Amino acid sequence: MYAVYYHLIFSILFKKANKLYRIKAFLIVILMAVALLANLFLAVWAWDYKVNGNDWVDPDCQDGTKQTPIDIEFASVIEIPSSETSYFKLHFEFEEHEVSVTTGYGVYRFIENFGKLLVMQGSTESMTSEIVNAHFHSPSENHLNGKEYDLEMHIVMEDESEVYSHVVYGVFFQVQGEIENEFLKDVIKAKDSKINFSLEKAFDSLEILEYYQFMGSLTTPPCTENAFWILDPNIRSMTQDQLDFFTEMWAGNSSFALGKGNNRELQGLGSRKVNYYLSFAINLVFAPILIVLAFI
Ligand SMILES: [Zn+2]
Repeated sequence: MYAVYYHLIFSILFKKANKLYRIKAFLIVILMAVALLANLFLAVWAWDYKVNGNDWVDPDCQDGTKQTPIDIEFASVIEIPSSETSYFKLHFEFEEHEVSVTTGYGVYRFIENFGKLLVMQGSTESMTSEIVNAHFHSPSENHLNGKEYDLEMHIVMEDESEVYSHVVYGVFFQVQGEIENEFLKDVIKAKDSKINFSLEKAFDSLEILEYYQFMGSLTTPPCTENAFWILDPNIRSMTQDQLDFFTEMWAGNSSFALGKGNNRELQGLGSRKVNYYLSFAINLVFAPILIVLAFI
């Protein structure tokens, strides 16, 4: 085969080729170019979880320095209590929509504007982001103090001021007890039918006073950085049956990524810091004790 290429190229270079040879050579060059482009296209687009994202070729996935997921070590977080001026509280405004779930390779996603998240400094709104989708990873992508959770939901938002590429809010779920999680009941039901869906069921309160925050990236190609990440420290419970629903799709399914989950491997924190915003209300528990101690 290579001898044919050599003969054709040699003939063209030394102008010995007849018209048929030139056409053949032209077609071969075109086919080779198409094959090369197709390979590049597949390398970029046909990514999978067989090695948990370690082989993704996008530049940010390979060489980014602010990638997600991460492990949040409690000992190294920077605490920002609500008594400090740099404290921000979060406020969700949810909207209910009739939706069906979008499924695909490693995907179980609800796509709709399910409301917005306001970042509040005192009573001033400092950032507003619109929810564009909510999706799931099992097992969890991010870890808390070395712990992986059974399931992680990512609420993906777009920053209205476009300072950040995305805003992502992560919620962890863990198997505990026999009481079904009401929100996940809806999530699972949506596989077979259109449902009225709101993220509000996943929250006890629309005010989020305690959370982890760091700068990161999308956890799937192209791993775009400058994403504003928030992780909820309040772990939701779920039943084993509810977890099985996700495990059957991914981590327990040998035809999906050789039985791996749809979770990217942990990324280094590098020079980044994780802020831990916590409400003064938590400190109020200890305040009376401190006051008593002060008078002893
Ligand atoms: Zn995600």
